[in-house]
Parts: sequence; C-alpha cells; structure tokens
Amino acid sequence: MIKPHGGTLIERCLKKELPDMKDLQTYNIDSTLADDIVNIATGVYSPLTGFLNQNDLDAVLKTKRLADGTPWTIPILYDVDTSDVKSIKENDQIILYNEKYGLKALLEIQDIYKNNKKELAQVTYDTRDIQHPGVNNVLHMKDFLVGGEIIMITKKPQEFHQYYHTPKETRTVFKKKGWKKIIAFQTRNPPHLGHEYLQKTALTFADGLFINPIIGKKKIGDFRDNVILASYETLIQNYFIPERTMLSILRTSMKYAGPREAIHHAIMRKNYGCTHFIVGRDHAGVGNYYLPYASHDIFQEFPDLEITPMFFRSFYQCKKCGSIVNDKICPHEEKYHVYISGKKIRQYLQDKKIPPEDIMRKEVSETILGFKEPFVT
Ligand SMILES: [Zn+2]
Repeated sequence: MIKPHGGTLIERCLKKELPDMKDLQTYNIDSTLADDIVNIATGVYSPLTGFLNQNDLDAVLKTKRLADGTPWTIPILYDVDTSDVKSIKENDQIILYNEKYGLKALLEIQDIYKNNKKELAQVTYDTRDIQHPGVNNVLHMKDFLVGGEIIMITKKPQEFHQYYHTPKETRTVFKKKGWKKIIAFQTRNPPHLGHEYLQKTALTFADGLFINPIIGKKKIGDFRDNVILASYETLIQNYFIPERTMLSILRTSMKYAGPREAIHHAIMRKNYGCTHFIVGRDHAGVGNYYLPYASHDIFQEFPDLEITPMFFRSFYQCKKCGSIVNDKICPHEEKYHVYISGKKIRQYLQDKKIPPEDIMRKEVSETILGFKEPFVT
C-alpha cells in the first residue's frame, strides 16, 4: 500500500482530558479551524503535526514545500487577535475549543508571528483581488499566527457520520477489499455524465474508485452536502459496481487556490491510501483566475509526490461518435459536440426541470429535485 505523505501516518488523538489540562486557558475556534485540527490529528494532513510555524510557512510560500523539503502547498494556519497575543507566549499550552464539534484540542505553542496577509494571499492565490473568495478569507484573518503541535482530546460524531472515515479506516477498507490501484475523485458537485465517464475511464484500469466529496463551508448557490451525497448514492446504485466504489466525505474548506490546491487535494488522498488522483479541467479554480490546465502543469514540479495524477480534459457528447468522448479520442467537428456545462445543469434544476439525459442521468436529476432546496441560500 502507498505510504502516507512524509512516510508516517500522523495520529494525535487522546481519548480523554488529562488532569493537568484542567487549568489551561481555552480559546474558541470556528468550524474551519476545527476541521483542520481533526485532519491534523487523524493524519489527513500527514506529515503535519500542528499549525505551521513561521519557518515552515515561509518555505511553503517560497518553495511549495515544508522546511524539510516535503511537498506542501496550502498553508494550514491558526490566526489570533492582537489582544490574544498579550496573554500567550512561546511554549505555553492552550486548549482550543469548538462547541458544534464538541472538539477540544491541546496546542503547544512553538512561535507567535505576524500574519503578513497581503503576501499570504498573493502567493497562495496568485492574485490580490478581493473578489477571489480565498483572498477575501485571508484578508479577513486575524493579525497574528500561532505555530505549534496539536493533540486532539475530544470530538463528537458529526452529520453524515456514516460517510466519515479517517485515513487509518480507509486504508483498512482498501486492504480488506483487496484494492491495490485506487483512484481518488475529488468533488463538490452532484455527478453529471462527464464526471461519470471520467470516473469509469479511470476505474477501467484500477481496482477501486474512492469518491471523496468535500463537505464544509460553502458559497451561496453551491449544492448542499446532503444533495451531493444522495445524488452519488443514486449514481452508484444504478450505474456503478458498488463493490468497486467507496463514497466517503472529507471535511475541509475549499480554498479555490487552483494549482496549489490540486497538489494539496492529491496529498490528502495519498494519506487515505489512494494511488492515483484525478485532476480535471480548472481543478479547484474559481472564476477565471487560473488557466484551465495550470492545475495539471504544477504536478511537474513534484516528481516526488508518489501519488500519480491522472489528467483529464473535459468530456462531452459527440453526436457522430454516439457517445461521451473527449478531445483526445474524438476526431469530429465541433458542430457534433454537446458540451456538459455545470451552469446549464444548475439552470434546469433551479427551474425544477429535469436536465436532458445526455448530460445528467435521470435518476440523479430526480434525486436532486426530490429536495425542496438543493442549493445553499
Ligand atoms: Zn466524435
């Protein structure tokens, strides 16, 4: 089985609070930070053992690698206010708490440093445009960053718990199923026919398909999490061999960092035990900030990534071929092509209409329309 990123699967969980933790200062954190802590503690972010210190952050921004040279492209950071900085110092231990998650974690502070938000936004997103959702998030961060290792103490099971697996658990499942070549598919949308053909093309040469939707903070107009999961259940039951697929959620926020995030997405799936990672057109992009295949090109900088990227271009319906194809396999003129546009599908669904069956499976459309409000409002 593929080794976790950095060689060792990180596990930093305690089963209960230790007596000497009782007197520590507690800081409330939001769900996005809580997700990061769970991902650190369960090894989704291996080899990270905590929030980035200044040394690692500088290296990640400058070289797309941690200070020790391990590929790492997305900064995982804990930001605090100027007023908080007065009551904490290096080597302190503090408790981070999130009520919704019932999450408590111990943070051992390594360093406290200024959050250079403009540089952080510019380098991570390759733009400083405030319209970019990732840039907007960074510019609204607090003024200081705290680096240090974390240990997760408690956490309650969350919504969709039946779809939640830690890397340790997915690795056990893959082993049990006898899967050796495992394709990971990242998504944040219900499947249309283009997705299905892409997944099936990849699966033809592999043992298993790991469908891994991102669940977490969404934008207005995005599909709701329960809609994405239900639509995939429908697709798998009707059009996949269930023994060859696994549907599992990943709780993390989308950063919309395009190429840098494509590498991050691949690293997380490597930690789950996947050997291959599907990278589509404009992976993790938003608007027109990134070239359509910038998220393919960036993989050339990481010959040491170990998980193998599978690059795909868009799939479309060709009337002449009589099937769903892409521009590598169809020789016909554009007049025969019907493009599968997410925007078009969304429009049909918003109007409570079933999209044409040559772009989305009827069963999937019906599942989505079975929800009163499929979109985030
Ligand atoms: Zn054709």
